[in-house]
Amino acid sequence: MLVYDPPNPVCPVHGERLRRSTCPACNAAYMRDYLKAQRRLRPAVALHSRARQRAARRGLPFNLRVSDVVVPMVCPALGVPIIIGAMRSAHSPSLDRIRPSLGYVRGNTRVISDKANRLKGTLDVEGLIRRAIQSVDQRREDYARLADYLERELLLAEVRRKAAQDGRAGAEWAKVAAFLDRAFQKADWPR
Ligand SMILES: [Zn+2]
Repeated sequence: MLVYDPPNPVCPVHGERLRRSTCPACNAAYMRDYLKAQRRLRPAVALHSRARQRAARRGLPFNLRVSDVVVPMVCPALGVPIIIGAMRSAHSPSLDRIRPSLGYVRGNTRVISDKANRLKGTLDVEGLIRRAIQSVDQRREDYARLADYLERELLLAEVRRKAAQDGRAGAEWAKVAAFLDRAFQKADWPR
């Protein structure tokens, strides 16, 4: 359960008696605690706003709504638990751009573990398979799982393209896309 834990921002100059309207350090201390609380209490909102900032910084397309960001219990790529907390770790939720160059657009993102996102980087399926071959033990397994993950997400992207066409065929493909999307959120997808 998530329990509300009021933040306790401290300014190096003013201590806990914040003067946010006049002191930048007070405001910075407040914002730091606010964002920390957001990561814990409203992880989708935190991921959404971080992604928007990153997109602006890197000049990437962005059209996500908060409702597009679904934080699963288990990482859909690696099968490890997703842990919501103030501190970032390998198990923290992280917003993957399935095809990095497309940016943070609807249908091109999935919440996975921080570890999965770091390992994936900007690698494509072939790159991930190559890494799996070059690695041993757990790392090999991780890269193999990431290659599977990316392969099925690319399949879903293809289905979404078909769903965008007019008429009954488009509507049928849209149903398939919705089904796959729900299935891929879960880590128990058969491998
Ligand atoms: Zn201050």
